[in-house]
Amino acid sequence: MRLLIVSNRLPITAVDEEGQLKFKDSVGGLVSGLSAYLDSLKGSGFTQFNYVWIGWPGASAEGEKREALKTRAREFNAYPVFLTEEAMDKFYLGFCNKTIWPLFHYFPTYAVYDWDYWNQYEQVNRTFCDTVLEILKPGDVVWVHDYHLMLLPRMLRARAPDVPIGFFLHIPFPSFEIFRLMPETWRKEILLGLLGADLLGFHTHDYTEYFLRCVLRLLGHEHTMGKMIVDGHIKKAETFPMGIDFERFQKIAHSPEARESKNKLRKTFPDAKIILSVDRLDYSKGVINRLHGYARFLEKNPEWREKVMLSMIVVPSRIGVEHYQETKSQIDGLVGEINGEFGTLTWTPILYQYKFLPITTLVPLYAATDVVLVTPLRDGMNLVAKEYIATRTDQTGVLILSEMAGAVKELGEAIIINPNHAEDIARALKEALEMPRDEQIRRNTIMQTRLKRYDVVSWASEFVQTLIAIHGEQEKFDAKYLGYFAVQKLTEDFHQAQRRLFLLDYDGTLAPFTEQPQTAKPSKDLIRILAAFAADQSNVVVLISGRDKETLSAWFGALGVNLIAEHGAWLSEKDGAWRLFRPLKNDWKTQVLPILDLYADRVPGSFVEEKEFSIAWHYRKADLGLGAARAKELVDDLVHFIANTDVQVLSGNKIVEVRSASVSKGTSIMHWLADPSFDFILAAGNDGSDEDIFKILPPTAYSIKVGMTPSHAKFNLFSPTELIRLLSELTAAVHHPCHFDKSRGA
Ligand code: UDP
Repeated sequence: MRLLIVSNRLPITAVDEEGQLKFKDSVGGLVSGLSAYLDSLKGSGFTQFNYVWIGWPGASAEGEKREALKTRAREFNAYPVFLTEEAMDKFYLGFCNKTIWPLFHYFPTYAVYDWDYWNQYEQVNRTFCDTVLEILKPGDVVWVHDYHLMLLPRMLRARAPDVPIGFFLHIPFPSFEIFRLMPETWRKEILLGLLGADLLGFHTHDYTEYFLRCVLRLLGHEHTMGKMIVDGHIKKAETFPMGIDFERFQKIAHSPEARESKNKLRKTFPDAKIILSVDRLDYSKGVINRLHGYARFLEKNPEWREKVMLSMIVVPSRIGVEHYQETKSQIDGLVGEINGEFGTLTWTPILYQYKFLPITTLVPLYAATDVVLVTPLRDGMNLVAKEYIATRTDQTGVLILSEMAGAVKELGEAIIINPNHAEDIARALKEALEMPRDEQIRRNTIMQTRLKRYDVVSWASEFVQTLIAIHGEQEKFDAKYLGYFAVQKLTEDFHQAQRRLFLLDYDGTLAPFTEQPQTAKPSKDLIRILAAFAADQSNVVVLISGRDKETLSAWFGALGVNLIAEHGAWLSEKDGAWRLFRPLKNDWKTQVLPILDLYADRVPGSFVEEKEFSIAWHYRKADLGLGAARAKELVDDLVHFIANTDVQVLSGNKIVEVRSASVSKGTSIMHWLADPSFDFILAAGNDGSDEDIFKILPPTAYSIKVGMTPSHAKFNLFSPTELIRLLSELTAAVHHPCHFDKSRGA
């Protein structure tokens, strides 16, 4: 297996030093995390494993320089994507960091909607796609990272349909109300872009849920346990909270150099407790809120003044984006104010450093610190919180963590705060500084065990394994597509047969769904096909529908086919008269009807369809989110209601139906199946009620599920149109159905 990791930046940054091409390590959680995973695979004796990292090298290059960069990058298993400075400007500083970043971090007022930025975002994603295709080989697995490349999975899928593609979002996925603020084209394109991947990973369950909800509301795809079928492909959205390289942090913390610098630090501030905060300069990190909280703490707890110190590291970031400069001046001003107000000749309450610290400096600082204060207003994960816990070799120390950080889901033993309230931060600081040592050890031991068990290597391997598994499911699924060769065999068998039986469902199988059931009338083509089949004495055609008998008589009564109405309650043979299969009761309807009516009132656009022995609640026209939620509730209500009665509840395609339990499509066709003279049987259906037929067919029968979802049927087709085409070719006695898609498996 070869893994292609695609991210905005490469793990190395190219720099031109006096005409000489040099590489420096790039910094960041993704790079160090994935490097640990790749090292673990190399070390595991997994000899077949290889990888290439694809991304921007941090510099643009032309001609010979470009080739030289490519060659050098190969030594680092890297393959550069070349982008111009202008493209990077509009793409990275523009769309990524002025539109997506603020919006996905719940700062909608900071979001800029600029079509020029959007076009550049599309263009850069396309350049990434072209670059991946330059080196993509059969057997490769592609893992795309983060919000810079949300259109890439679909672009890749279009050009390389069979490649396993995974996508992981490292920032929060926002709720529908925030996501919808984008122009319609962008929000749809982003969702469709992401859905090009087989597997979509998010840090927390909430982000996964928000994504699935946006997919439902904006694209109409429902999911089951995070799985959905989009254009015949299985997609899965799943939660994978990213871990850290726990062992590495422990190792550095135990090193003699780290111990020495920790001791030095402690000696510099022998009498003060150290509170530490570390983050990139970003308005989402809540630095201003933290400062207000700290000031409030000093104000309320004068006994702590001169005994505590806030060491605040702010790393320069995204210089050139407007709101970052603004945040920087606000922080500078506030630090000055607080130091001015509370500081003395011998004590500075805040030690503020605006710079990047290498990990070798950061770890001793974590280790020397009594309290770490993490206060983002919104953060996808927050690795600093996890790293602090990992470096506490004696298990002491207190973590104060914002409830708005993804990491809070795994670090529930921290002191949890809402960073919007200074009072809350002040209270937490007092609690942290006064927390008994035993309690600190108790909490940190639990968190360390968790972080060690689900570290970054587990995170990445679980993602890659899930991706391969989903793709494997897809392959099995594709194998069931009724492709060219299977159609050839079916046609041959059809022609050779002496007696043929056709068991056909109607809605969703022979005709597409419409908003109102009465408008889904049979097409002229279908009528012609059914009449042609029925005219041949060697054929028996049975239409098995959930519809009422009046509609079936009106649409198909003249064709000489057998009709079964209400999912198997009624039968009309060629003479046109209707009879019940067996006596049925419908006295339950008077009690069930008001419940369904209530749901029709509660969900605008939904309605109730009453038949003699069944009642259905349709929500195809309703808001799909609301409809799906209420459908679950309704099934729940009804299941309690119908306990110990002869009534069953079935949820179908945007429908909940209540009917007599002794009725099923399966039992209604028994007497035809008992006839041994049929040497060709073709059954087609699209939903759960048709599975009752598929399950009882003899092994030689052709069963076709319309729609690419799992089924007991032998084959799948995408749509009613494909089935009609097949039936039409059979009636026309065409031996070579050459316009079937040969690219899909037989
Ligand atoms: N970091 C660092 N030096 C610094 C500050 C931060 O190496 O001076 C690292 C830190 O160890 C962590 C990452 O930068 O791994 C920050 O990740 P986090 O998820 O906390 O925030 P992000 O910057 O990704 O929003």
